[in-house]
Amino acid sequence: MTPPPTGPPVDLRSDTVTRPDARMREAMARAEVGDDVLDGDPTMRALEEEVAGLLGTEGALWVPSGSMGNLIALCVHLDRGDRFLAPDRAHILDHEVGTAAWLAGGMPRALPWTAGPGAISPADITRVVGRGGPYFALRDRLLCLENTHNAAGGTVTTPPEHRRLTDAAHAAGLLVHLDGARLWNAAVALGVTPAELAEGADTVQVCLSKGLGAPVGSVVAGDRAFVEEARRVRKMLGGGVRQGGVLAAAGLVALERVDRLAEDHDHARLLAAGLADRGWRTGVPRTNILVLPVDDPQRTVSVLAERGVLTVPTDTGVRMITHCDVSRADILRAVESFPPPG
Ligand SMILES: *Cc1c(COP(=O)(O)O)cnc(C)c1O
Repeated sequence: MTPPPTGPPVDLRSDTVTRPDARMREAMARAEVGDDVLDGDPTMRALEEEVAGLLGTEGALWVPSGSMGNLIALCVHLDRGDRFLAPDRAHILDHEVGTAAWLAGGMPRALPWTAGPGAISPADITRVVGRGGPYFALRDRLLCLENTHNAAGGTVTTPPEHRRLTDAAHAAGLLVHLDGARLWNAAVALGVTPAELAEGADTVQVCLSKGLGAPVGSVVAGDRAFVEEARRVRKMLGGGVRQGGVLAAAGLVALERVDRLAEDHDHARLLAAGLADRGWRTGVPRTNILVLPVDDPQRTVSVLAERGVLTVPTDTGVRMITHCDVSRADILRAVESFPPPG
């Protein structure tokens, strides 16, 4: 029977709802700061160096959000009217207010998932990239990859698959930007380093404010020339901050928490297994995202909300994301709160 809501809601809407804990707030309070627009902030510099090291890039730049990190990369890589390719339903295509076109001037081309959920193959790239052509042909400049692929349900691309794609893109004359909002999750799920998953990408964006739990912040990384240009574009977009060390300090604590993402992945599998036991048809989540196909997503989301379990409707199902602020008990409560299927 319907369990009555007890305690605060179980919030599975996103891993962005995580709140900074006492240790993170303390690090923020104690952060050494400068003026990062004027002549630099030591804590931001430390964070940027640490992330560049983790990703194996020459440099990195703190940015207020993942969307701004992606936009900065596109602004640097694209000239107005250039085309960029991305797997269908990529965040950069569907969830960033169209800034790729609006501000970076990019003409998008979505590539269908021919190699599994969220996944494209090297042939998909070579097939659509124009080689010369008449004067009115589009100029293909960039491939945008996403690992994990959010809308596909947190699916992962392995290092060899990633390398085949970046090699094909480079052979076709494209640059590669990797939207690695949840690259940390992919690395933990695969048991590889983030650098192995970034290899071959010209630029990478990673979020600190999702599963790692920082209140704000992403980092966009690439070679020295890119970072220099990215700093200019960040300023243009209003993303230059002064005593940003207060925010970067949270990011440094967040980076200590990469390994614990494994627990979120366990919880996502526990959720899927519990729902399967209750008769729902569901696959096994690869990371921390489960998209459960349901007939009436909006209705199911409402029923769950009445029972104190917060989720997000998609076109075809209910999306749930596990994170550090949901416990095993919360997951079991979410499972019990589901209405029977059908
Ligand atoms: C969340 C997310 C972003 C954007 O991050 P914000 O900080 O919310 O702007 C970009 N790409 C993917 C795949 C994401 O999940």
